[in-house]
Amino acid sequence: MIIQKQAAGDDCATKLEILCPNCERDVDEAELAAQKCGDCGYDLTQPKQSIEIHATSVPAIAITF
Ligand SMILES: [Zn+2]
Repeated sequence: MIIQKQAAGDDCATKLEILCPNCERDVDEAELAAQKCGDCGYDLTQPKQSIEIHATSVPAIAITF
């Protein structure tokens, strides 16, 4: 029996992303402060929010018999 443990790459369980509603690119703080997408120039007064939840409750262990 071989037990493989997968190391968690990210400490954060949830990750909030602010996306441009037009091109869906992840915008940074400076672009958000300027309320303008640096990529397509779209207005970011009502940005799209995306919450990514990583399944940390599920143990990332693969068991091979
Ligand atoms: Zn954009």
